[in-house]
Amino acid sequence: MDTLFPKLPERLLLGPGPSNVHPRVLEAMSRPLIGHLDPGFLSLMNENQELLRAVFQTKNLMTLPLSGTGSSGMEAAVTNFIAPETPILVAINGVFGGRIKDCAERAGAVVTAVEAPFGKPIDPNEIADAAASCQPQIIAVVHAETSTGVLQPLEPFREICERQDALLLVDAVTSLAGHPVAVDAHGIDICYSGTQKCLSCPPGLSPFTVSDRAMERLVEKCQSWYLDLRMLGAYWGSKRTYHHTAPISMNYALRESLAIILEEGLERRWERHRLHHKALVAGLDAMGIGMYVAPEFRLHPLNTVTIPDGVDDLTIRARLLEDFNIEIGGGLGALAGKVWRVGLMGESSKANYILYFLQALGVCLRDTGYRCSPGDGVAAATETLSG
Ligand code: PLP
Repeated sequence: MDTLFPKLPERLLLGPGPSNVHPRVLEAMSRPLIGHLDPGFLSLMNENQELLRAVFQTKNLMTLPLSGTGSSGMEAAVTNFIAPETPILVAINGVFGGRIKDCAERAGAVVTAVEAPFGKPIDPNEIADAAASCQPQIIAVVHAETSTGVLQPLEPFREICERQDALLLVDAVTSLAGHPVAVDAHGIDICYSGTQKCLSCPPGLSPFTVSDRAMERLVEKCQSWYLDLRMLGAYWGSKRTYHHTAPISMNYALRESLAIILEEGLERRWERHRLHHKALVAGLDAMGIGMYVAPEFRLHPLNTVTIPDGVDDLTIRARLLEDFNIEIGGGLGALAGKVWRVGLMGESSKANYILYFLQALGVCLRDTGYRCSPGDGVAAATETLSG
């Protein structure tokens, strides 16, 4: 049988994740394997923990990459802190907030949900009122709702949690390294992310961090064996007690991607994501295409673009993929057929990709009868890029 590789297309990944991966990360993954208890790997584990602390902006001792995708971070965040009947308040304004609720209910929590329509942020006053009446032990919120493109401001949550003596649980899957997550400054107690978004690694690990105060509130016995933080702490801590075989090549990849992020610098990286988001919005606007979310709540790494009336979602996405090798995402749930999700995450957030995408989108739209000028889009984006 022949090899798989020539059959796989090369794509420009401008969807909701995964994003493009830096060649240095791909190279790291191809390094020869060493054992997961090899001294070389043990020091790599230390290094990854230290680099993750820098990217999360935290001093938390319990900081590690969980062996699993972003959803493993969600499961770990919930199952280690929720016993049957634990009251939890979940902010829901998209698919991923809904998943936290589902996960918490499965763990037997008493869930109170505060909801906002898709495309809008959660009102912190509603959170404060609901928290005062349901007295939650945990308040959970999605920082970057990938399903809708909304960035949830985190500042008000710290005070609400302090007032209620509740732990703050944050899903930062799409925001980490694309927006400031600032775990310690925001008073976040439990935070999880994923490798395949703004870290520009393949999917497979979930960067995870827990405050000391939250570690004192672990449940007696975590329902999940695999994600039990006490056992994971013994494996990732000084004891190195074997728990499971860490995905070695993925940890090589993470090491390299975190190094690339810190070489660029967090501030510069956030600014790059901001500028490229602005350029995309300017370009789309010049082509008569609007955004789904109000400007002040727009995510920079994930842009929800309103599909113009009369334009067929799937026709355009299929053409972009087949003729231009560009992947973008469609809407999830209630937003299916209404928005495109254009990811400008990590390695995929580059000026030339934006210009290429605008040109390609314009051509696809024009060919289906939508009147627009791709040249105007490219010109407007170029203007924004040159500041
Ligand atoms: N949370 C958010 C905000 C996400 O965007 C995603 C994935 O897109 C997840 C959680 C789940 O992560 P994964 O698909 O890596 O399990």
